[in-house]
Amino acid sequence: MVFTALFICLFAVGCSRSENVARETVSFEGGIMGTTYHITVVAELSDVASASTAEAIEHALKHVDGKMSTYKADSEISRLNQAPGGVYVPLSAETFAMLQLALEINRETEGAFDITVGPLVNAWGFGPTALENPPTEEELAALRKLVGPDKIELDSLTNSVRKSAKGVYCDLSAIAKGYAVDLVAELLKSRNLNAFMVEVGGEVRCSGLNAAGVPWNIAIEKPVSEGRVLQEVVGLSYISLATSGNYRNFYEIDGKRISHTIDPATGKPVDHALASASVLHERCALADAYATAMMVLGPEKGMEVAERLKLPVMFVLHGEDGTFETRQSDSFGRFVVK
Ligand code: ADP
Ligand code: MG
Repeated sequence: MVFTALFICLFAVGCSRSENVARETVSFEGGIMGTTYHITVVAELSDVASASTAEAIEHALKHVDGKMSTYKADSEISRLNQAPGGVYVPLSAETFAMLQLALEINRETEGAFDITVGPLVNAWGFGPTALENPPTEEELAALRKLVGPDKIELDSLTNSVRKSAKGVYCDLSAIAKGYAVDLVAELLKSRNLNAFMVEVGGEVRCSGLNAAGVPWNIAIEKPVSEGRVLQEVVGLSYISLATSGNYRNFYEIDGKRISHTIDPATGKPVDHALASASVLHERCALADAYATAMMVLGPEKGMEVAERLKLPVMFVLHGEDGTFETRQSDSFGRFVVK
């Protein structure tokens, strides 16, 4: 999975005490899925029992990577990708559910979010192997025949998937980080830890309040490749934030930026003024996938779909002379910290 660098900045939080019970922040961090994770929990120290929590978090993250990474040849999704066409491949209930969810989001976003873009992602050099040459129009035409939600058939009785041809290739990179965040959130809740911020590769889910007793302050960055500059700060409790952008993971051909977001309708990297899209949703997997969909749809159509789905979104657009313009959907404003 190509996991890009962080799109958000995390605010440091302090410790507080109430009613003689020490409530402290405990942090967990490390690397996974080619990126980093940062988790902060506010709880009584005795609740966190940090060594076993740290181990459980690592285990959950490695579990998702082992199932959904196209970068691991022995992952479940890679097994599906290597399978011949026409045969049903049984999957775990978890990976099967992710494919079902991905198809649902594909319908909702008018085809913009499409995990079957794998062959195109790989051809444009954003898959496990580096790009040698950009694909020719003939190559693209051939690859596009392998792309589309109708190229995978899901059998929910047996949790099996049948590809229409061997070359059909599912890429979960735009949803798996969000799913990993959700899984860690569930894990923390199962341990009765209900005030936390979980972040994997820039996708974040917050629950409860931070140590200062207010919603978690999360900063969305300005979409610039160099350094980290604040664009907007949102206050989040019981909600997730994902940001997609083409300002970290890209390369240039003849001075033109080649984005890692592929428009399934054209087979090509997107090319419009949208520099980043941030989406809020209860489930981080959905926020993650919708954010990629917004990057495909572009500023106008993306906002139309966001309003239809009642999604709180913020877009940052490239303006004239290196400036930026922001646009927010109707429901985004109430999360902004003034
Ligand atoms: P971002 O933070 O920019 O969304 P992600 O890693 O979450 O980055 O998602 C980008 C990845 O999603 C790409 O590298 C590619 O593997 C995959 N992808 C590209 N285009 C699409 C698409 N239209 N639908 C689903 N996944 C896509
Ligand atoms: Mg994403």
